Amino acid sequence: DYNGPSYDEIVAIRKKNLGPSLKHNFKTPLLIHNGKMQWLFDNNGKRYLDLFGGIVTVSVGHCHPKVNAALKNQVETLWHTTNIYLHPKIHEYAEKLASKMPGNLKTVYFVNSGSEANDLAMLLARLYTKNFDILTFRNAYHGMSPYTMGLTAHSTWRFSLPGVNNGIQHVQNPNPYTGKWGGKNCRDSIIQTMRNCDCLPTECKATEYYFQDLEEVFRYSIPVGKCAGMFAESIQGVGGSVQFTKGYIKKAAELVRKNGGIFISDEVQTGFGRTGDYFWGFESHDIVPDIVTMAKGIGNGFPLAAVVTTPEIAESLTQASIFNTFGGNPLASAVGIAVLDVIEEEKLQENSLTVGNYFLKGLDELRSKFRVIGDVRGQGLMIGAEFVADRDERLPLSREDFCKIWEHCKDLGVLFGQGGFYGNVLRIKPPMCVNKNDVDLALDVLERSIKAHI
Ligand code: PMP
Repeated sequence: DYNGPSYDEIVAIRKKNLGPSLKHNFKTPLLIHNGKMQWLFDNNGKRYLDLFGGIVTVSVGHCHPKVNAALKNQVETLWHTTNIYLHPKIHEYAEKLASKMPGNLKTVYFVNSGSEANDLAMLLARLYTKNFDILTFRNAYHGMSPYTMGLTAHSTWRFSLPGVNNGIQHVQNPNPYTGKWGGKNCRDSIIQTMRNCDCLPTECKATEYYFQDLEEVFRYSIPVGKCAGMFAESIQGVGGSVQFTKGYIKKAAELVRKNGGIFISDEVQTGFGRTGDYFWGFESHDIVPDIVTMAKGIGNGFPLAAVVTTPEIAESLTQASIFNTFGGNPLASAVGIAVLDVIEEEKLQENSLTVGNYFLKGLDELRSKFRVIGDVRGQGLMIGAEFVADRDERLPLSREDFCKIWEHCKDLGVLFGQGGFYGNVLRIKPPMCVNKNDVDLALDVLERSIKAHI
């Protein structure tokens, strides 16, 4: 039972003592005080199916007993020494995490957030290549630190200040649904229908056109051989679960490397088995990146993030000292190890694939019933449904209309996420322990909410 300050008291404190820019979901935000696996409970004891997992932060389930036990056990032993001494946990964890990586990605840096991880990756790319220019996509989200805010390409998440854009270019987003070129068959999706495709899959030119555009950026904007690197999410998260056209990432990575740069995969949302087929999202693009950054699900909600790279690239940081007070502390490492164990023991990657495919199929059926759902996409449990005002023109449903459906789902006990530049994408990234019954509940609630408002 909830016995903390009242709802009104909390709202008053928030207004008085927390920053006005701090955002909350829903007009009347929920007061959540308890979580168990895929369920959240509010101050009135009402249960919600959490399909957004605190934006993918909770990977294996709220308060998972094994992760909780690992944390409690570590709390009793040692909290912190900083890395000026040896402690076993960070070593055990680094070895275990590195064993999950392909190729020569063997050197791990532990930090505390996704922004910090991408900051470090930017620094590594520039020091290693001795170049400055970095590319990323329009519609990308890579963080809110002053350094990574430059990478993030949503005007709503950026402050226009000197230095933010320093050396960063945002290239065309290879988005097959609302981008310049493409169609449904142009991306890797389990649902291979022709309905959105502008050309036959065998003749699809979207990747080629986007790639030509990238070549043009290099030709006009980056002196030969002077690229430091390119950042890409394997599926864009905040941008609205956007999948790229097939084969584009592989070609782009080759071009970046040819021009002196390295390729950085941001796996903050897509890592740790979420995409189902693979442990890492980049594997579906058939590449081995030079740097991989990870956060959120890595700690199941505990502040923890990491950068993994090759020993050669890591060497470039020895020019000066690098230090992070809390990076890889015993508590975080104990949690990280437990998370990896649970993913394996409970076969959560496999679960992401089967339950994710079931979800995608169900959403696609809803799409055939309601014209307001323009696109259904994703891999595993990294899913998006884009709501449109006009299906033929692919015009976004207004934020106001979208929110009516979204809030109604919340009232019926199912928490979806909201995303996309226009706030018209329903985002589904639940703890990976969800099952098909949860999906049936979610689809039923979504259908009822759409019917109530459209
Ligand atoms: N990269 C991606 C893909 C993200 O989605 C986010 C957070 N939404 C970040 C980086 C930044 O992570 P953090 O909020 O932990 O700094």
